[in-house]
Amino acid sequence: MLRLQGKVAFVFGVASEDSIAWGICKRLAEAGVTLYLGYQKRFMSRVFKLKDELDAIAGFYPLDVAEDETTAEFFEAFSKENPGLKADIMVHAIGFAPRECFDRPIIFVEGSALDAAMTVSAHSLQRCLRHALPHLNPGSSTITLTYAASTRFVPSYGIMSIAKAGLECWTRELACHLGPDGHRVNAISSGPIKTIAAGGIPGFDRILEHVEANAPLRRNVNQDDVAGCAAWLASDLSAGVTGQIIHVDAGYSATMVPESIM
Ligand code: NAD
Repeated sequence: MLRLQGKVAFVFGVASEDSIAWGICKRLAEAGVTLYLGYQKRFMSRVFKLKDELDAIAGFYPLDVAEDETTAEFFEAFSKENPGLKADIMVHAIGFAPRECFDRPIIFVEGSALDAAMTVSAHSLQRCLRHALPHLNPGSSTITLTYAASTRFVPSYGIMSIAKAGLECWTRELACHLGPDGHRVNAISSGPIKTIAAGGIPGFDRILEHVEANAPLRRNVNQDDVAGCAAWLASDLSAGVTGQIIHVDAGYSATMVPESIM
């Protein structure tokens, strides 16, 4: 039994109906979780349309993790409208790198573009958790989203690989820092899924074809696959799990030489 009825979740990273975070929202809503969404203002109209599809969404406030103050604004707005209410779950499904990170050879990416990618895609987990802590119940579960390019070379993923390596380090550091107080922090390493963020990765469709042909399950994963793991991580069924990177990728990360060369 998931036993999530009556729990409260912060979910960050819904930009469209294809967002992994939206898949997680639907799964958590089915399990009885009340949702408070943090959205980026540039996706406001899409998020406003989507919010009517789930009764479980009790509030939604702007969130921009690029700055400390704009991150704080989400929690200020949440606590103003819901005094004393605390969350049990935080979903951090946020990733971004400026266009030039993909347009330039990696050796020439530097300065503000590099800083923006690292701040938003890696360091923002720490920033979100720092602001969230006063609003989290004991025994909370935080879930972030990563990709296996953190530990292996993936063509064209570039700076995002470095950001994901940083994010995974943050996952372990924060799990160890907050574990003594009973808070858990884990990352789901998802296989490739077509979303707005994925659309910015050159050659993404060919990566999807390659994984479908070579993953042990001979398919790509989808938002529901990731959401199932997220619901488990959000629940007490995973009470002994923290600081982990859990692969939801149809088994692709267990392989090295692709079957298709044989
Ligand atoms: P998406 O485009 O639907 O979601 C990315 C989200 O990041 C958006 O909601 C966007 O608003 C948010 N975001 C970006 N910059 C932000 C900022 N400054 N402040 C607040 N929010 C910001 O794409 P997605 O694929 O669902 O991405 C969710 C997470 O999953 C990302 O961390 C991504 O790297 C990770 N991931 C995706 C895949 C994939 O193939 N789609 C695979 C592995 C991991």
